[in-house]
Amino acid sequence: MIDWQGFDWQGFQAELGDIPCITERALVRQKSRDFFWYSPILKAALNDKSADLVVCPRNEADVVAVSALCARHRVPLTVRGAGTGNYGQAVPLEGGVVLDMTGLNRVLSVDAGLLRVEPGCRLIDIESAVAEAGWELRMYPSTKRTATIGGFVAGGSGGIGSITYGGLRERGNIVAARVVSCEAEPRIVELTGDAINRVNHAYGTTGIITALSIPLAPRLPWVDVIAAFDDFMTAVRCARMLGLSDGIAKKLVTVLAHPLPQNLKGLTTPEGKHLVIAMIASHALTGWTDLLGDFGGTEILRRPTAEAETDAQLTPVYEYTWNHTTLHALRKDKSVTYLQSLFPADRTLELIEETYRSYGDELMIHLEFLRAGGQVTCSALQVVRFSTPERLNQIIAELEARGILIANPHVFTLEDGAGHKRIGGDQPAFKREMDPAGLLNPGKMRSFTVA
Ligand code: FAD
Repeated sequence: MIDWQGFDWQGFQAELGDIPCITERALVRQKSRDFFWYSPILKAALNDKSADLVVCPRNEADVVAVSALCARHRVPLTVRGAGTGNYGQAVPLEGGVVLDMTGLNRVLSVDAGLLRVEPGCRLIDIESAVAEAGWELRMYPSTKRTATIGGFVAGGSGGIGSITYGGLRERGNIVAARVVSCEAEPRIVELTGDAINRVNHAYGTTGIITALSIPLAPRLPWVDVIAAFDDFMTAVRCARMLGLSDGIAKKLVTVLAHPLPQNLKGLTTPEGKHLVIAMIASHALTGWTDLLGDFGGTEILRRPTAEAETDAQLTPVYEYTWNHTTLHALRKDKSVTYLQSLFPADRTLELIEETYRSYGDELMIHLEFLRAGGQVTCSALQVVRFSTPERLNQIIAELEARGILIANPHVFTLEDGAGHKRIGGDQPAFKREMDPAGLLNPGKMRSFTVA
């Protein structure tokens, strides 16, 4: 832990010149937090962490200036988008500077289905900006209305749209990233192709992203639908079939087992039922209705997504899914937490049924169907009735023993959180190149040591 006693923060700030800063303690603390409190374990570990100063760059030149100053004074620098990440990704473990990127929020160009954008641009603002030209984002997290594109690329994994395009990590879902190093004289590097993985899901430990090229999808009029089922596995089979139905254009396929639907704010659901929540292109609704008929589900909601996004009284269904499901559950019962898992594509149904039957209400099943490596499988963000860390770890071990991959959301390091317990591609080597003194988000890449 760095001893900040006697560090001349006023002098540091003076050297920043006219770059805006936040010094007010309460606001600095607020901007040092994210949604780590979903985990009782991380809540205990991270609750008291705070930066010393928040710096708010207006453009790339400001980012370079801050990075250079931090490198010269050996001050830790933790990058932040909107702070909606889980697992303390944007929490500065060693104090120092939090770099608030929301000032770099311009859409730079939209050309032939390729977006060039600054990292602090909110996903919802990107959607509005590209809509005019007939495009939309291939995928976004359920925090689309608050999160930034830079935070999504550096901290997220996938979301609404992943049923068609796979996760962010899938080759081709990010085209290029412009990255600033943390050195006395920062360098700017443009990454393309597989090299993107050096910054994708690296928690800002390997460089500061100042621009991104993101491929878009043709814009479609999406319709929110929800169907209720008496039997859980029938709901799962219906959702999986929807995932496999390539002719039905869809953006989201979620299953919530009873009692999770009872938590959804603003939605009245029939007692005891299991839900399939989906976003279907308006031209594909007949296909959806026919499919639902095959499985005996009852549609309980149908409404254009855009209507729910623009009416403050309504909730778009994507805000009932992905990690919003956990948030709805936490609103009702502060003692619950969650897990993140990926089911193997060849044993999806069998393993879902096994886990559903084995844990009862201790593990409330929430599934997100998606494509991974071209195959339809599903990820689960099970809501867990938390008792002790030991019991949580026991459940994780049991699921892993069954062949289910766990991305542990109760740890803050890249290595421990990753599904395969190792970090992506050549991130450590790139960090050595871009951040030789280990100042970027220190403590998050556990295996990194300063040379
Ligand atoms: P932040 O939380 O601010 O940052 C995330 C990480 O990125 C941090 O490590 C930060 O240091 C780094 N970072 C930010 N900007 C930069 C930059 N310019 N350069 C380098 N590093 C940077 N995630 C999903 O993937 N899918 C979901 O569906 C999803 N649903 C969620 C639902 C809820 C209710 C919550 C609370 C979280 C959810 N998340 C989900 C996690 C999170 O919302 C997303 O990953 C989101 O995209 C993060 O964006 P942000 O702007 O808030 O990033």
